Formats: sequence, structure tokens, C-alpha cells
Amino acid sequence: MESTNSIEESLSNRHPDAETVGNHLVIDKTQWCPGPHPDPHRRREGQTEYLARYLRCIQCGAEVLSEGDLPEECDAR
Ligand SMILES: [Zn+2]
Repeated sequence: MESTNSIEESLSNRHPDAETVGNHLVIDKTQWCPGPHPDPHRRREGQTEYLARYLRCIQCGAEVLSEGDLPEECDAR
């Protein structure tokens, strides 16, 4: 039998590593991108795709490559 607080648990488990950055609540995301890695140091010969890391605010949906790129305001919808 499921416990009665399973809904609350699933909500808190949805973004367990969300981090407050300024006005935003961001999570780390990774995504496979086609092509060789833009950084030559991490590029391999014959590479057809690479894993890119980016940040996504779960409140306003902003997606940036680094925390410094986040807009000042967080427009939660
Ligand atoms: Zn935001």
C-alpha cells in the first residue's frame, strides 16, 4: 500500500538538486549535441556528438550555460 503522503514526496523528489541562484531556482541539465565539442581540449577525433551542460530555472524556464548568464529577474509564470 502506498503511503498517503506519496504526492508530497513526488513533488519534492521532482527537483531534488534545484539550487537557488539569485532570484532563480536552477537545476543542472545535460544534453547531447551533434558535432564535435566546441572546446578543443575535450574534442576527440571522429566525435559526432558531445554532452553539453547547461542550467535551467524551473520557475521561469530560462536556460543558460553558466550562472552569470541568468537574467536578474525571475519571471515565474
Ligand atoms: Zn528564474
